[in-house]
This record gives sequence, structure tokens and C-alpha cells, in this order.
Amino acid sequence: MNLSTHFKRSEFACKCGCGFSDINQHLIDVLEDVRGHFNAPVIINSGCRCEHHNRAVGGKPHSQHVLGNAADIRVKNVSPEQVANYLESKYTDKFGIGRYRAFTHIDVRETTARWGTNG
Ligand SMILES: [Zn+2]
Ligand SMILES: [Zn+2]
Repeated sequence: MNLSTHFKRSEFACKCGCGFSDINQHLIDVLEDVRGHFNAPVIINSGCRCEHHNRAVGGKPHSQHVLGNAADIRVKNVSPEQVANYLESKYTDKFGIGRYRAFTHIDVRETTARWGTNG
């Protein structure tokens, strides 16, 4: 089932196989914007996580992934740093953006959060 032009619900399903794939549509809009900005495929490393799977992968107890608000993404041929830079410039004082060496975390929480470095 397609959520949007470039994203399918299955891409966001919990990796444990439980079937949890209730991803926030607002996040999909953000990811479509990222795809359009870089004109490159966006790969979803991790989307929805049930409580059990979130614990298994060492996620924070109240992770936005458990709420279906978050995705860890890579953009083909674009560094995670560039992706994070773009998101932070586009969504000033909004959302959660986490910098990791191999991917960028983005979530559509109501508050603002920033963490991690690409150094
Ligand atoms: Zn699960
Ligand atoms: Zn994440």
C-alpha cells in the first residue's frame, strides 16, 4: 500500500514482524520533501518499532519510533551530515533531528530536540 508517491507502508513496518506500521502521515510529508530536495531515493533504516523491538535494538524507552513518529533515514549518495543540515535549516525550532554516523533520525514530535554530531 502506498502512503505517498515514493513511500510504501511496508518500508516503515516494525522489523520484528509484528505488523506495526502505523506511521505518522506528517512524517511522510517531511520525507517526500527530503526526497524532492535531494532528488534521490530515501532509504528507511528504521521506522515504527513496537515496545519489544525498541528494547531489543536499545532504543530509548519513550522513543518516537514507538509512537510511529520517527524514521532513521539515508539518502542515496548524500552524507548523513548533509541530510541533517538540510532538515535543521528547513525545520528551525521544530521536530526531533538526531545525527548519527550512518543515518539521520527525524521525528515529528510536538517539541524540538537536537542531538548527536557527525564529527
Ligand atoms: Zn514489532
Ligand atoms: Zn531514530
